[in-house]
Amino acid sequence: MSTVQCCKCGQEKDAISGPTYGGPIGGELRERVCNACWLEWFNGFGVKVINEMQLSMRNPDHIQMLMIQMRLFLDMPERK
Ligand SMILES: [Zn+2]
Repeated sequence: MSTVQCCKCGQEKDAISGPTYGGPIGGELRERVCNACWLEWFNGFGVKVINEMQLSMRNPDHIQMLMIQMRLFLDMPERK
């Protein structure tokens, strides 16, 4: 199994093994976030954000909002 230098926990840990989001963000997540931190977002805090902000994953504006929250949570600023 491959490892990544995770931008959230700062450790070298197992890379994401399960599903992420589609598109370029999925590739970026696999390069920058470890599996444990990803699951913390995907199964935990991310779900809470979707529920509390009442986001629809069919609405591109909502997806954008979710991505902003996710980058904050994962300490993963957009690449320049
Ligand atoms: Zn991590």
